[in-house]
Amino acid sequence: MVNGAHAVRTVLGDIRPDELGVTDAHDHLFLRSPRLPGQELVDAPAARAELAAFRAAGGAGVVQWTPYGMGRRAGELVRISRETGVHVVCATGLHQAAHYDDGRLTALRGGRLARLFVSELTEGIGESHVRAGFVKVAGGFHALDAHARWTAAAAAEAHHATGAPVAVHLEMGTGALDVLDLLCGELAVPPHRVILGHLNRFPDPVVHRQAAESGCYLAFDGPSRAHHATDWRMPGAVRALAEAGFADRLLLGGDTVTAGARSVDGGPGMPYLLRRVRPRLEADLGAETVNRILTGNPAHAFATTWH
Ligand SMILES: [Zn+2]
Repeated sequence: MVNGAHAVRTVLGDIRPDELGVTDAHDHLFLRSPRLPGQELVDAPAARAELAAFRAAGGAGVVQWTPYGMGRRAGELVRISRETGVHVVCATGLHQAAHYDDGRLTALRGGRLARLFVSELTEGIGESHVRAGFVKVAGGFHALDAHARWTAAAAAEAHHATGAPVAVHLEMGTGALDVLDLLCGELAVPPHRVILGHLNRFPDPVVHRQAAESGCYLAFDGPSRAHHATDWRMPGAVRALAEAGFADRLLLGGDTVTAGARSVDGGPGMPYLLRRVRPRLEADLGAETVNRILTGNPAHAFATTWH
């Protein structure tokens, strides 16, 4: 595919949105953070096995939300995507400051952050020619600090330069409306190009509905040990949004962030999304709606007209 086409930008190149298929819209194959010592996702054979297990469960696409400087392993993603036949979309972007050392952040000041995002979206990540397919940034706990504003501004600049979607980690699910005010208000990113993640970590149905009314996409991701307390409310939250007319705004993901959460290491992992989450939601919403959430919605959310 050529530039200017409406496409999902995968690690193997641009594809038509309808080629993406059943998609885990928020997950991680590789991830490294000083915040998760000893639990890093760095094992390439395990990542490949997890992707193969997702494929065997009926999966066709995975969107990895690991941003810059957190061990994305772009070259490895190419290899395991090719070997398993699963489309993989990789992120550029920047997480909260706590995930980086100060020197690394200082080096990105002075307009360099947006330039980094654009070059990773259009030229390639590092020395590779693997292009990122979206920008991932993060909010804060019920507020946006200077770091969150800086990274959101760079993400918006990269969006305006390339058309790339912008995905946002909501800290413990909070701050959705502040993030939307900033990104879509002040920074003029069209709401349908914004994907909010971790909605279910703060399952306030009114806020969920207000966020959906903006026109952005809402990603429900998990299960996770850390957020087990709210995980069981996910089907109700998804159902409420679907019944309010927002089924076309919903995305689902596994958000595997630790090695122990991988199915190949004894956790639920990526296959759980199709093995248990899908039938659970089908019981409430019917197979057609759930299929749309797993297939059509990610295609719309992650496809853009690249420029
Ligand atoms: Zn994540």
